[in-house]
Amino acid sequence: MRSLTRGLFNLVIAAALVLGACSKSVEGETKKWTANTTKVSELEAQYPGLKPALEARKASAQKIYDDAAKLDGDAKIEKLAEANRALMTGFVDDLDDLDDKMKRLREARVEAASMAGDESSRLGAKVAAVDAEKALERAEAALKTGASDEASAAAVLKKVVSDIDTAQTAVNKVISADQAKKSAADAEKKAAEAKVDDAKAADEAKVAPWKCGYCDAENPHDAGNCNSCGAPRSGDKKPEGDAEKK
Ligand SMILES: [Zn+2]
Repeated sequence: MRSLTRGLFNLVIAAALVLGACSKSVEGETKKWTANTTKVSELEAQYPGLKPALEARKASAQKIYDDAAKLDGDAKIEKLAEANRALMTGFVDDLDDLDDKMKRLREARVEAASMAGDESSRLGAKVAAVDAEKALERAEAALKTGASDEASAAAVLKKVVSDIDTAQTAVNKVISADQAKKSAADAEKKAAEAKVDDAKAADEAKVAPWKCGYCDAENPHDAGNCNSCGAPRSGDKKPEGDAEKK
């Protein structure tokens, strides 16, 4: 009885999962396909030199996508997912990320170029900034030249990405070294300021008036005896300083 209920329960769950997964994933993968093909068309417009390679990629992925139409259920979902992967993998994925990558390097380059700091920081920053600019120029030229097929496009992208990554690492290094120097200088400045404050406090303590331990009258710092009762200053700290008196 118990196992029967359990079996039925599992069957219902399994059916719900399959139905849910089916409708959801076919729809999801189809949406993804639409978004991906739009993306590839945008990349073609942005990088006309790579259009032949992108067109070849689109055509081969489209074949897989078309095959999915003949299938049902899980096989269909898997085929659609395969078409999406085939469209976006490798150099297309690299190309898709490249814009952000180059933008990050441009921003870091500007930051490095405008870096203050000491002379050696500035010099290092300038070198890294110039290298970054060259890497960006090389990337733009390589993308403009483009590639006639997928294999060449993959080689071009691999080189461009590695070039940009190397330049980004160098610029990051210079920027973080400068930040470390700045915080060390800040700490030094704060320590010096604290020293000045301490000295000031000590000077002020030297000229601070003193209070008589016997009559509570306030006396100028240089008075040896209380102006009011004549008690010696040395007695003010320990009015009942018997140890000294005995
Ligand atoms: Zn006194």
